[in-house]
Amino acid sequence: MSQSPPPTLVDTHAHLDDPRYRETLGEVLDRASRSGVAQIVAIGTTAQDSAHLVALAARSPGIFAAVGVHPNNASEAGPDDWAAITRLAHKPNVVAIGETGLDRHWPDTPFHEQLAWLDRHLELAQSRDLPIVVHCRDAIQDCIEYFGRINRPIRGVMHAFHGTWENAQAFLEMGFFLSFAGMVTFTNKNLDPLREAAANVPIDRLLIETDSPYLTPHPFRGKTNEPAHVTLTAQRLAELRGIPLEQLALDCTHNARTLFRLPKDRILLHSGSSRPD
Ligand SMILES: [Zn+2]
Repeated sequence: MSQSPPPTLVDTHAHLDDPRYRETLGEVLDRASRSGVAQIVAIGTTAQDSAHLVALAARSPGIFAAVGVHPNNASEAGPDDWAAITRLAHKPNVVAIGETGLDRHWPDTPFHEQLAWLDRHLELAQSRDLPIVVHCRDAIQDCIEYFGRINRPIRGVMHAFHGTWENAQAFLEMGFFLSFAGMVTFTNKNLDPLREAAANVPIDRLLIETDSPYLTPHPFRGKTNEPAHVTLTAQRLAELRGIPLEQLALDCTHNARTLFRLPKDRILLHSGSSRPD
């Protein structure tokens, strides 16, 4: 009896330039490919790691880059960094701008500076006709107000969404896709409102991600996350929505390829050839 291959998935948010993968990236990508992950959107948080990811994407079929400065890194960034991001935004395999956003959890960057960086990213995304990848931590109302003032549909994703169904509806109305990470698998009761949102988001706006190396799904919490684990989040989302995993994978993969315009024929291969140098 032959085993059917795992369903095809796209991990729409992974930090492949994280130092935790320095020695192991080849193996990490190999495991991802064997688990059914066909494509990964590798997300920049500084000008420097954005440049590394663009280079990684150039030599690794199936990896695409988002370039930007994370709100928690913005206070250390200067005009040269922004100039580098705008140059990178023109490179091949760059499929999004970010991650950018608002964060009231960590005090690294004053809030008014975060807003200025978000303005910059949004303008670049719209001028390059690329989606924007938004980080929002302890700042849901701020994000709803900020994007609510933009009076045209926004092409982008609220990444690792962690609000309620009511919050979700506000972002959906603005045009956003919502991406769910390992939090939906955590057993904490206080995440039930998040699961309610995950169950209700229209299927054509639903994305999945790992946010590797963070947010490792149950039962691997506490370990370093990696793109192969996106299957656990997909499994839980399928359960929450009462549909087969295969159907959920089909829809989420289609959505990821639509939002980020990923070419279907550039996929991860089972090989250790995409090691960083
Ligand atoms: Zn991230």
